[in-house]
Amino acid sequence: MKLLENKNVIITGGSRGIGKGIAEVFAQHGANVAFTYNSSKEAAETLAKDLEKLGIKAKAYQSDASDFDQAQQLASDVIKDFGSVDVLINNAGITKDNLLMRMSEEDFNKVIEVNLNSVFNLTKAVLRPMLKQRHGSIINMSSVVGIKGNAGQANYSASKAGIIGFSKSVALELGSRNIRSNVIAPGFIETEMTAKLDEATVDSWRQAIPLKRGGTPTDIANACVFLASDMSTYITGQTLSVDGGMLT
Ligand code: NAP
Repeated sequence: MKLLENKNVIITGGSRGIGKGIAEVFAQHGANVAFTYNSSKEAAETLAKDLEKLGIKAKAYQSDASDFDQAQQLASDVIKDFGSVDVLINNAGITKDNLLMRMSEEDFNKVIEVNLNSVFNLTKAVLRPMLKQRHGSIINMSSVVGIKGNAGQANYSASKAGIIGFSKSVALELGSRNIRSNVIAPGFIETEMTAKLDEATVDSWRQAIPLKRGGTPTDIANACVFLASDMSTYITGQTLSVDGGMLT
């Protein structure tokens, strides 16, 4: 069953990893997909072509999510190209890990700008069209680390915890306009990046997870499909952990 037919979605950071997985699964569910990238132009253009083979409209946009003006421009370009925005997925994110003793001010600020300011920027950018059409689903990508913290990731966990507070406030402000705002908190998700790590280390992580495996981009994408679709029209302000039971 296709759950997202005729829905137009913006996904930030769709060129690889989890965002790419979301783009693919959304296209399989009939959504039209506008996605952004920062520097991976070739991968993004290839993905857009592959998605269109599924019979939906897809387009890649170079847009730095941490830049307020670029986010405004992106939203107006997408409205021009697609006609409307029904779903926004704030997925773009980076890490610059270090123990606090060694963390520079620059690395703290950069992670907050890309991971948290981006969520403000894009939400502001789609607000007017969503208010006008009187519906919208916003899905923000946090992390298990935003809920429980992590040594060596003070900047990252602050950004991911901030997303949860922001998302709940948006849910309270915009519920009366039928705009929903929810968070997904992935645990350890295996991507091209983790495939490069030492297998023994990765396996020890897997064994510490109740479901005894890392998650896949598809695991996260399926949760996004639910929150984007009309299956979840009475759900807002929530944080859904998709982590194999890590936080249990
Ligand atoms: P990833 O493989 O590193 O991909 C990051 C994506 O974000 C890329 O498409 C990248 O574009 C884009 N991006 C980076 N900076 C950007 C910017 N300033 N503007 C626009 N796009 C930008 O990351 P991932 O592992 O898929 O993670 C995706 C999200 O899930 C992140 O928010 C991350 O914090 C969260 N998360 C991941 C895990 C995990 O285990 N992987 C766990 C919990 C939460 P380019 O390709 O052009 O650089």
